[in-house]
Amino acid sequence: MKKYNFNAGPSILPREVIENTAKQILDFNGIGLSLAEISHRSKDFQPVVDEAVALIKELLDVPEGYSVLFLGGGASLEFCMIPYNFLIKKAAYLNTGTWAKKAMKEAKLFGEVVEVASSADANYTFIPKDWTCPTDVDYLHITTNNTIYGTEMRKDLDVPVRLIGDMSSDIFSRPVDVAKYDCIYAGAQKNLSMAGVTVVIVKNDTLGKAPREIPTMLNYQTHVDKGSMFNTPPVIPIYCALENLRWIKKMGGVKEMDRRALERADMLYSEIDRNKLFRGTVATEDRSVMNICFVMNDEYAELEKPFFEYATAQGMVGIKGHRSVGGFRASCYNAMTVEGVQALVKCMKDFEAQH
Ligand SMILES: *Cc1c(COP(=O)(O)O)cnc(C)c1O
Repeated sequence: MKKYNFNAGPSILPREVIENTAKQILDFNGIGLSLAEISHRSKDFQPVVDEAVALIKELLDVPEGYSVLFLGGGASLEFCMIPYNFLIKKAAYLNTGTWAKKAMKEAKLFGEVVEVASSADANYTFIPKDWTCPTDVDYLHITTNNTIYGTEMRKDLDVPVRLIGDMSSDIFSRPVDVAKYDCIYAGAQKNLSMAGVTVVIVKNDTLGKAPREIPTMLNYQTHVDKGSMFNTPPVIPIYCALENLRWIKKMGGVKEMDRRALERADMLYSEIDRNKLFRGTVATEDRSVMNICFVMNDEYAELEKPFFEYATAQGMVGIKGHRSVGGFRASCYNAMTVEGVQALVKCMKDFEAQH
């Protein structure tokens, strides 16, 4: 039976990206060796990094003066590297969920942290709107897409300070005004590649200002200077990212990814709103187009497990909601097809007809 992968992360990748990566693991560029067993400094691998960096700059229209890095440690290590490198005295954080909170926790190790607003009291079901950002902070940190709760900011904020964005689960799903950011980071395993690499886009002239010694590996400058080759980078996830970047470009770039995301999300949210069994969990205007969260309406609460089993039997994978929300979460990253969403919508309609 055909499976539809709605996993939140690690998550769906285009089939051709997986196949092309698998081929290179068996025989890299026809040299008779695996991608897994050659030097990252070899003349064969350097072009992979160069092309991936160039494609990221092209797809996101990255202005001059920024570096693109491939680092280890996941987005979680960035939670600490960001304040280590950028927090001079005081930083602002918008608390929109679990990941934002974790980022804030690390920042408190390095200086004063202002929580500009929070929707924690409402279980993060909306993005706070009525707040002002203090102007005497070194940066404002935002999580553009809240993978767990299913809220998203699809427009780059207008604030009088520099932005730092955790875009782990919506990078390459829309055009981004990179110039507003000092740093953008994303763990690759949601919408770019397999787990093991983190993409960082950093404005060069913002580095070197923090009043502290920074361990070599945690200093962005190290990786800027060495082109992500200070130590051995995760070559296979970087290669897989390259294949996916090529795929995004071939499909029409991030504008087309945006159009597709909106189309998929519209189909699924329309069914959630129409179907008597289900309701969405977040404020309509803040609905994520990447992670679509919904629950059973109260009068049908006992149908949660049966629907999960029914949908699973129809080939839906990974639709169980995160434990902090419950219900269901259908993650619809770039590689999710309209056909996949149609299959899920059909499950919802058929299940409704049976009850
Ligand atoms: C998954 C996720 C993280 C954590 O990523 P790791 O690579 O596992 O450290 C951070 N932020 C967001 C928004 C995420 O979705």
